[in-house]
Amino acid sequence: MLKKWVIGNWKMHGSLADNKALIDGIRAELPALDARVGMVVCPVFPYIPQLKQITAGSGIGVGAQDISEFAKGAYTGEVAGPMLKDVGVEYVIVGHSERRTFHGEHNEQIARKAKAVIETGLIPVVCIGESLEERQANQTEAVLTAQLDALFAVVGTDNANIILAYEPRWAIGTGVAATPDMIQAVHSFVRAYLTKRSAAVAGLPILYGGSMKGSNAASIVTLPNVDGGLIGSAALNAAEFVAIYKALVASVA
Ligand code: PEP
Repeated sequence: MLKKWVIGNWKMHGSLADNKALIDGIRAELPALDARVGMVVCPVFPYIPQLKQITAGSGIGVGAQDISEFAKGAYTGEVAGPMLKDVGVEYVIVGHSERRTFHGEHNEQIARKAKAVIETGLIPVVCIGESLEERQANQTEAVLTAQLDALFAVVGTDNANIILAYEPRWAIGTGVAATPDMIQAVHSFVRAYLTKRSAAVAGLPILYGGSMKGSNAASIVTLPNVDGGLIGSAALNAAEFVAIYKALVASVA
């Protein structure tokens, strides 16, 4: 698996026309991807076939924003892993803070979703992160440990095809990214945790997410143990998304 990634979480945005304009814009500014840095976009479910079509031949991967923990059955409104695979999805975000906040998803359920992704043969992008209250109460490491413990209790520690995304909940969509010092401290902590768990997971990519944009990307992605970004708002703007991608490429050059 690649080590560096820029993954766009489009959330509940887009239309056939907007999606095409965005991908055209990215491809115009970036005619070829760098083999060392992956680019993935995660639209809402209905647009996945369109995204597969308009990204064909570009190297841009297509991901989903959620998955059912079940493979099929009477689960109205849910989408199963085999269905995602059927339409060409390669990556699935699980545990995004908006799923935790608005849908009550908890660590164990998120771990089961990650397992469903893995069992389907896809790559989970597992989000972890603390709330502002937890950070202020000095609980950040405890919260992250609980999230990672829950994940590995379900998926095991022999799978190297997992991407982690540290997303402090207070930095998502707020325009206020965590400081490089905070990011550095957490990513080092997560790397040390992974190293203790097993050789297979020791090198998992750890992305940062939370108000990353073109102007702050270089100061974040050049930090040790920051292996890329999970991008929300700035992923909806071709120039911003490409600027972040180029910062990643410069960081590995
Ligand atoms: C996200 O939703 O994963 C995210 C990082 O959003 P934003 O970049 O808008 O903070």
